[in-house]
Amino acid sequence: MSTPFSIPLTDVKVPEEDVQAVLACLEEGWLTMGPRTQAFEAAFAEWTGASHAVAVASGTAALHLALLAAGVGPGDEVIVPAFTFVATAAAARYCGAEAILADVRSPLEPTLDVLDVASRISPRTKAVVAVHFAGYAADMVALRGLCGDRGLVLIEDCAQAVGALCADETPVGLAGDIGCFSFFSKKQLCVGEGGMVATAHEEYAAKVRSLRSHAMTSVTWDRHRGHAESYDIVDVGFNYRLDEPRAALGLARLPRLDADLEARREGVRTYRRLLADVPGVELPWTDEDVERATHFAFCILLPDRGTRDAVRDALAADGIQTTWYPSLTYFTEYESHGRRPVSEEVADRHVALPLSASMVPGDIETVVERLGVALADV
Ligand SMILES: *Cc1c(COP(=O)(O)O)cnc(C)c1O
Repeated sequence: MSTPFSIPLTDVKVPEEDVQAVLACLEEGWLTMGPRTQAFEAAFAEWTGASHAVAVASGTAALHLALLAAGVGPGDEVIVPAFTFVATAAAARYCGAEAILADVRSPLEPTLDVLDVASRISPRTKAVVAVHFAGYAADMVALRGLCGDRGLVLIEDCAQAVGALCADETPVGLAGDIGCFSFFSKKQLCVGEGGMVATAHEEYAAKVRSLRSHAMTSVTWDRHRGHAESYDIVDVGFNYRLDEPRAALGLARLPRLDADLEARREGVRTYRRLLADVPGVELPWTDEDVERATHFAFCILLPDRGTRDAVRDALAADGIQTTWYPSLTYFTEYESHGRRPVSEEVADRHVALPLSASMVPGDIETVVERLGVALADV
């Protein structure tokens, strides 16, 4: 797609084999959830190592259904990080629960602070949602210990982290009770809109499978094949189905995911090497963490918000697109939750530089060179 930026933040490539896969699906004429969705679920389960994978319409839908499957309802509290995309908190609120914002560890490791989570547990707390920010796993060993001790369901928001490993090498999505993935356009495995719920627990998978299609006891595909004549409704469900063209796209793209993630990782290694000695730049996480992560974005830390904003303006003027992720406490809807100092510090100080699987080393060198110039000027 054309953009006013010569180096865009992300770049989605759709090769001919993907186009052909979608075309074949359209020509066959079965467009809603059916055999390609089933095949995509099976392939994704195998790729992640999950016992069960249930495809849904979005990552947000995955979070909503995961929380409902965990039994979250009105009057409950769900602890989520303040430094995340708003969908993590909104999903708890769809269930009638309250989202409790916990702070993150540090600007260098902006995932849930387990001590802050512990301090916010109340008799009403039902679940904790860990977010694997930018493709780096949260501290799942500590969170699992805490949630196990306190009888809380541990849900993973893996929207930015497909394929990442935790510190103990457990794949994200399998380290807690339920893992939620997104296939939105900016995510590493993208089909436009789509999501997946992964879990080792049969009862959670069955609940999600039921709720994604109105809690009907048979789906259209079964009835089409004569496997069922009618159906019963056994709960209040939703239309959170994935459709077949998107499942076809997911199936076509999944075999290239490992190579795409390695290309992102290589881009991050290049950035970190070139940025290691640039004054005023701090690199979050360690080189070791980089190897286990899957790099939804490449974030660096600058000294303060003023510098960050000036650098972003200078890079934009050079045709280089960047972004930053706010703390939920900055939004009108979440302002009454009060301050979360570490989430706000990381929100203020970081900038996400261009990164995609198709990015060439020359572009990374250009970004680093322009960044150096911009920093020297502020
Ligand atoms: C993208 C994202 C979501 C939502 O996924 P959608 O597929 O866009 O609904 C949820 N949480 C995080 C952390 C995300 O980055």
